[in-house]
Formats: sequence, C-alpha cells, structure tokens
Amino acid sequence: MSGRLDGHVVLVTGASSGIGLGVAEAMADAGAAVAINYRSHREPADDLVARITGKGGRAVAIAADVSDEADVARLFDETVSAFGRIDILVANSGIQKDAAIADMTLADWNAVIDVNLTGQFLCSREALRRFRSQPADTRPARSAGVIISMSSVHEIIPWAGHVNYATAKGGIRMMVRSLAQEVAGDGIRVNAIAPGAIRTPINQDAWDTPEALEKLLRLIPYGRIGEPEDVARAAVWLASDEADYITGTTLFVDGGMALYPGFRDNG
Ligand code: NAD
Repeated sequence: MSGRLDGHVVLVTGASSGIGLGVAEAMADAGAAVAINYRSHREPADDLVARITGKGGRAVAIAADVSDEADVARLFDETVSAFGRIDILVANSGIQKDAAIADMTLADWNAVIDVNLTGQFLCSREALRRFRSQPADTRPARSAGVIISMSSVHEIIPWAGHVNYATAKGGIRMMVRSLAQEVAGDGIRVNAIAPGAIRTPINQDAWDTPEALEKLLRLIPYGRIGEPEDVARAAVWLASDEADYITGTTLFVDGGMALYPGFRDNG
C-alpha cells in the first residue's frame, strides 16, 4: 500500500462504527498505520483490523473510554508502543442522549458533555504532548502533528431537543479555534470536520424508513444523505500535507445542510 499518508500514524477514536470506522479504513488505504479505538464493541474493531492487515496495512484495536483521563493516557501509550509514534488524531467519539430540556436528566447532560466535549479535550491534550515530544527530523509530514475534531453542523445550527449535543459541538467549535491559535507556533494544525446527516447507527431513526428519509432530505440541498466515506475522504485530505496551510477552521461535509435550506424558496 502507498499513498498520501505513508509513514504516518493515526489514532481514530470511536472507530468501531459509522464515521470513525470509515475514517480509519480510508486513512489505512492512504498508507497510514491506524490505531482503532473502541469503547465496548471489540468485534467490529477486530474485523476492521483484519480487513486492513489483509490489504497489507497496519492496524491495532485499543479499548478505551475517551472521557476517562487515565484511559486516554493508556490509549496513546498503546498507540505509540504499537507504531513508535503518533502524527494524526481524529477525535471522533460521540454519543446522543436526546430529551426536551425540561425532561433532560443531569446524567444525560453530563454523559454527552463528558464524551463529546471533555473527551475531545483529553485526547487533544494528550496528542499535543506527544507531538511536541517527537523530534522534528522524524516527521513524515510538514506539520509536527494534526488534530481533527469530529464536530457537527450543530456547532452552528441550534437543535431543539438536543441541547446537550449542540452545546458540546458548539464548544468544540471554540476549542478548535483556541487550540489552533495556541499551538500553531509549534507547527501543529487543529481543525474540525462538521458532518451533516451521515448514514450511521447514531441517527438511524432519521433515515431507516422512506418517510423519515424524505423528511430528512428536505434539510439537505444536495439531495442525498451522506455516507461515512464522504467524511473519510475529507479527513484524509485535511490530515495530509495537501492541507498544510489550513488550521483553526471547520470543514463542512454536509451537502449544504448548514446553508439555511428553509430559504431555498425565497424564505
Ligand atoms: P456511531 O454511533 O456509529 O459512532 C460513535 C462512536 O463513538 C462509536 O464507535 C462508539 O463506540 C464511540 N464512543 C461512544 N462513547 C465512547 C467513549 N466514551 N469512548 C470511546 N468511544 C466512544 O455514530 P457516528 O455517526 O459515526 O458518530 C461519529 C461522530 O460523528 C460523533 O462525534 C458524532 O457526533 C459525529 N456526527 C455524526 C453525524 C451523523 O449524521 N452520523 C453528524 C454530525 C456529527
């Protein structure tokens, strides 16, 4: 295998399913060695490792909870002990616990903030520490390291009934920009990807019946639901030297969902 990410080591969190799985496979297809983090479902992570190694790539599966500080440190230790270094973090893990605000429990609020926002902080902090410790002459890329945070169109689109989720994604938007500003001088790039509606288990009830899909498509000017591969291709490019001058921004991969589709017919 050879490609744009030859010699790079990538850690993708939440890579046993959906977008993370697609991103991990695309990174491997581009030549990177991939650490596949999963929370509890070992089998799909092992299957992905087998698929990548079957194609001649390098991959390991590592269990860890991204909202747990000690687990995150161990996740990076195991990545570095498997592949010798780390060059790219894709902080992708995310959950939803939806409820109208008056019915939202503190546990549901905390769970989403812990995984979707604090988990991104813990993984980004650990990645920065590792990037800084790696000698410049060992780098496979122009940058000293790349962080990609999996955000959402809900970093800018308010979402009734999902206040915990939208708050976490809005937090990621400002975390990415502040972090990018802080570490650009070290040669580290930090960006977000904001997917629109992507066909994964997290939003299955929004696409798994014709009626639900038809309703969803009204929100997508480009007229189709996204697939994990749409996000994966963008992530590989954003991680590569082709995007070397890009930091502190969000790349929307959403078929136009964030373009106020309600105004298409003159509002
Ligand atoms: P998914 O449910 O298929 O995948 C989520 C992944 O996160 C799973 O692998 C899960 O095991 C992992 N995860 C959950 N809690 C974890 C924890 N504590 N520690 C480690 N891993 C944990 O959903 P997806 O759609 O692939 O979501 C991936 C990311 O994309 C999420 O951040 C989500 O918010 C974001 N996103 C998805 C969509 C979409 O339409 N599917 C849209 C915008 C943003």
